[in-house]
Amino acid sequence: MACFLVLFFQHFIQVPVFAGEILVVKYSIGQTQQGRNIAVEQFGIGAEKVVLMATIHGTEMIGTPLMHLLTDELISHPNWLEGRTLYIIQLANPDGFVEGIRGNRENVDINRNFPTENFGRGWFNGDQPLVAPETAVLMDFFTQIRPERVMTIHQPLKGIDYDGPADDLATHLSKISGIRVHRLGSRSGSLGTFVGVEMGCPIITLEIPNQANDRDSQWLWDHYGVLLETFIRYEPSTTQSN
Ligand SMILES: [Zn+2]
Repeated sequence: MACFLVLFFQHFIQVPVFAGEILVVKYSIGQTQQGRNIAVEQFGIGAEKVVLMATIHGTEMIGTPLMHLLTDELISHPNWLEGRTLYIIQLANPDGFVEGIRGNRENVDINRNFPTENFGRGWFNGDQPLVAPETAVLMDFFTQIRPERVMTIHQPLKGIDYDGPADDLATHLSKISGIRVHRLGSRSGSLGTFVGVEMGCPIITLEIPNQANDRDSQWLWDHYGVLLETFIRYEPSTTQSN
């Protein structure tokens, strides 16, 4: 793990700090088309790697405040990090977020531009894979980390979707939260297809309705906090036997 931290040393946004018992590191994994940093916050040093990501579509931004709430909760629940390292990307598409658009500044959908077998050309998908610098940055991140599981947060539907070997995980999250599993299929050039289908890593797509945008932090955490905690602390062997 020490080697890993050194790799990113030049990209630190904040110096590493110990918040309570937790090592917290924030660094940039690369830059957007407009030169903004795509930041990752890393909590803990355990062997199991778990990634949560929000706002890859710039107009679906509710996951960003939800990830902010999660980082606060992690500081008061260091036990959630036992044996694992958590990587949180609060804002995967900073340019789209600032511009109020779904794609990046060139209107390429970052979540359709991964070099997958089902990649489809098109104005919003990009003329070829990885023309969106943000997609290339995320691809490098996921192939370096090779996480055990991933969650990405979208809007405006209500449901739990998944790609890759995530049937049990999705069912478990649905049971805990009361949110139905609603499969949308693996979209061309999407993160779900790249990470889930092609890397073989379980990836959950959490869809949050737009009505959540009008609610306060307490409501947001009351509705999604347990689901996030369960996702982070998921142990396949124990839940399968239940
Ligand atoms: Zn979306």
